[in-house]
Amino acid sequence: MSDNKLISLIIPLYNEEANLEKLYFELTKVIQPLPFNFEFIFINDGSTDQSFNIVKKLSKSDNRIKYIEFSRNFGKELATSAGLKQSKGDCAIIVDADLQHPPALIPEFINKWQQNNDIVVGIREKNKGEGWIKQSGSFFFYKIMNLISETKILPRETDFRLIDRQVIDEFNKFNEKNRITRVLIDWLGFKREYVKFTANKRFAGKANYGFCKLMKLAFNSFITHSLFPLKLAGYLGVIITIFSSLVGMFMLVEMHFLHDPLEMHFSNMAQISILILFLMGVFLCSIGLIALYIGNIHQEVNIRPLYIIKKKNNFDTDL
Ligand code: UDP
Ligand code: MG
Repeated sequence: MSDNKLISLIIPLYNEEANLEKLYFELTKVIQPLPFNFEFIFINDGSTDQSFNIVKKLSKSDNRIKYIEFSRNFGKELATSAGLKQSKGDCAIIVDADLQHPPALIPEFINKWQQNNDIVVGIREKNKGEGWIKQSGSFFFYKIMNLISETKILPRETDFRLIDRQVIDEFNKFNEKNRITRVLIDWLGFKREYVKFTANKRFAGKANYGFCKLMKLAFNSFITHSLFPLKLAGYLGVIITIFSSLVGMFMLVEMHFLHDPLEMHFSNMAQISILILFLMGVFLCSIGLIALYIGNIHQEVNIRPLYIIKKKNNFDTDL
């Protein structure tokens, strides 16, 4: 029955003691009839509850279960990366441990993979129990991100996704520290397909990504995926310099060369203010210039592969 393909289920978890058994039960129920081999990779991201003991207990009765234990909490993004690095599957599916990603959709992901798609992305249609702050936060995040970043991302794309072995191998080459898994996977390209789903309510426990953590993540991704914030000072400087030069020139000509025919009576204070504004503009322009240099360094330090090759043919060496 098995066609010997192996699929890795990557499950990052942080304090999910109340969800793990139910998750394992649901996952095994869904994959049981499928003609593939599976491995479960649980990454315990420094949980302080019984999560890890539960994983260890489950692994005793099912040798498909593997686990990684972090020495402390490093965050979901790094936990997912660790899981992908250790995975042996022909493809991997990333699933949240809180049952918000419905296991019942896994066959659909696999089907689309079998139809030669390299990446199958879960698109969240609705999120039951998501507050308006989180909803509008994510709305603005995607708006700003798509406006300023070179990698375009669809709103509502989630980490619930399947990626082919070739994509995993390319992903494993990244060594950026500030990373958002889904944005990096999007950067890689490859053939994509989508599965829409309604996110369930968290089965138990509460979301670990609070407002502050999400804000931090959002700012980090703006900074790592776009040079726009860096150039902002420069743009402002150019606008202020142009504006104050025009006004300053007007004042100079009107007052000192033509002896105030329009009777504007610019006070000394007004003249000095414009001079200061002009100098501020020049100052911001210089910062903008430095930003361009820093931007170059940022791009060089942020060692991404130059390009990703999907297929090669008729080459002798493996370079
Ligand atoms: N998670 C993790 N490390 C963390 C925070 C969360 O591994 O520091 C896991 C968590 O156990 C869950 C997934 O990441 O499996 C998504 O977390 P959460 O439900 O808190 O986030 P949200 O549903 O709001 O995206
Ligand atoms: Mg969740």
